[in-house]
Amino acid sequence: MPAANSPLPRGAPRLPSLSVDAAAPTARAVLTGHYRTDARYPAAIVNVTNRCNLACEHCFIYREGNPNAEPASVHDELCDRDILETLEGLRERHGILSMLWMGGEPLLRRTLLTDGVRLFANNTITTNGTVPLLDLGPRVLYVISIDGPEDLNDALRGSGTYQRVMRTLARLPDDFSSPIQAQCRVRTIAAAMRGRPTRSARRRCAR
Ligand code: SF4
Repeated sequence: MPAANSPLPRGAPRLPSLSVDAAAPTARAVLTGHYRTDARYPAAIVNVTNRCNLACEHCFIYREGNPNAEPASVHDELCDRDILETLEGLRERHGILSMLWMGGEPLLRRTLLTDGVRLFANNTITTNGTVPLLDLGPRVLYVISIDGPEDLNDALRGSGTYQRVMRTLARLPDDFSSPIQAQCRVRTIAAAMRGRPTRSARRRCAR
């Protein structure tokens, strides 16, 4: 996942977030935080998975105490149908026009993304760039995390990650229609340049 996956500054208000009500007879999403049922939210963010095929040094998903820990099993995640129905309902209720799809690595849920981007006028998908991109049309923007030159990027994101991103981009067909931009986490690069050691390898999920 990209650099945007950073913890909120200390003291910042909590954003509305989705969670699963495990006590419900069927899976159901619960909104928490500063959420108003009568408000218009023209832009929204959804985290479709906490799974990822990388284990970046700065990742808050894996940080101790993070309530968004990686699930023990893919079966612990909301299914595609429940997420899509929830998002469609929220779109109608709040007039959501733009959706930012995040993870984890959102491209690990390919069917969900393919169906989900049809719900909104504008979509942005953040990705670590090591998973093949889907051509989802010109109104779906990909934001790929690439944290500078190869040595700095790989110090943060794992050995060989930079070349994996380059291979992803090189494999795109000439008529690939979704726009792509890169995103760089400047603060962490500065830390890497000071020789800050990377975290030890963490358990990685299969794609
Ligand atoms: S690519 Fe994966 S491990 Fe790296 S920051 Fe994003 S979610 Fe975390």
